[in-house]
Amino acid sequence: MTTSRQWLDRIHALDLPDRVKVMNVCGGHERSIAMAGLRKALPPSVELVPGPGCPVCVCPEEAVFEAIRLALDEKVILVAFGDMLRVPVNVAKREVRSLEQARAAGGDVRPVASPIEAVRIARDNPDRRVVFFAAGFETTTAPVAAMLAEGVPDNLSVLLAGRRTWPAVAMLLESETPGFDALVAPGHVSTVMGPEEWAFVPDRHHIPTAVAGFTSESLVAALYSVLRQLVEGRCFLDNCYPEVVRPGGNPTARRELAATMDVVDATWRGIGVIPASGYALKPALAAHDANVLFPTHDDATRKRAGQMPPGCDCARVVLGRVYPDQCVLYGRACTPRTPIGPCMVSDEGACRIWWASGVRAPRQPVAATADAPV
Ligand code: SF4
Repeated sequence: MTTSRQWLDRIHALDLPDRVKVMNVCGGHERSIAMAGLRKALPPSVELVPGPGCPVCVCPEEAVFEAIRLALDEKVILVAFGDMLRVPVNVAKREVRSLEQARAAGGDVRPVASPIEAVRIARDNPDRRVVFFAAGFETTTAPVAAMLAEGVPDNLSVLLAGRRTWPAVAMLLESETPGFDALVAPGHVSTVMGPEEWAFVPDRHHIPTAVAGFTSESLVAALYSVLRQLVEGRCFLDNCYPEVVRPGGNPTARRELAATMDVVDATWRGIGVIPASGYALKPALAAHDANVLFPTHDDATRKRAGQMPPGCDCARVVLGRVYPDQCVLYGRACTPRTPIGPCMVSDEGACRIWWASGVRAPRQPVAATADAPV
């Protein structure tokens, strides 16, 4: 088996252009890259840009607000993946700003690690309404679809914020400044949906693309693949995670997604609506759809400008427009102990990952109107 060191040697032997930007679309990839110190091991001309790989970061602010109000006003048991509990919404500091604070204020908010736990909580509490706030990309949404396909207790409903990854990349590529020359596509998403979903990147946009796993070996192999494609003037979709990613993905997961959810245009926090980038429960599942069962807790007095907290650059971090440490708040007002934006909350958020990897000082920020690094 080729080792990381051997892949790196091959990368260093390539006749690379002066500057190459490779985007990765997975928080797990970014974590592996940052923790392994991969950026420092690559030739200086190669930049690795973290892209839209954090579902918690793009979960619409109004969905988090809705979950908080359901916990406090409707007295439901609100269950959510742990990362979501600390994500702040844009309300005054004296108000409840996160699910964690809603729990402290008396709301019955419980973290779960899987849909199975949500079902168990609903079965254990037949006299209570249980709402499962399910935010995530395809890899997280597919188990929610499986849960619904199997049938859930009458008292369990889903507040769904499922998102699809490739439409965000398509949006970047269709913009005038996509900001990258090659793409490392997400391995776990490809495991579920099939690597073919990413074929549009080389086929339509002529960008070298490789699906990678989460080990250093797989990531560096994918980097070598896309860099070699660039050098040789070729572009194709290379599956560098063949032991897990199979053509067509996981047919059962895809069937369950198709049976329980529709693909819809969806809002990404701070970014706006991306066509065909989200999931909604099918009308046949209205009895389990929290958006149907409960009133919308809209409040015109709330601060919604930009949907990110003032000064927070998460939207541009998610799109690869700036690096985390170029946010003016990074390491100053915003740290994992005092997170301001979702990218510093989630384990898949680039800001939190960079902080955990030892990047503690902000660098020169990039103004919103200036040329961003991508
Ligand atoms: S450092 Fe904090 S405020 Fe800045 S982009 Fe990251 S999460 Fe948002």
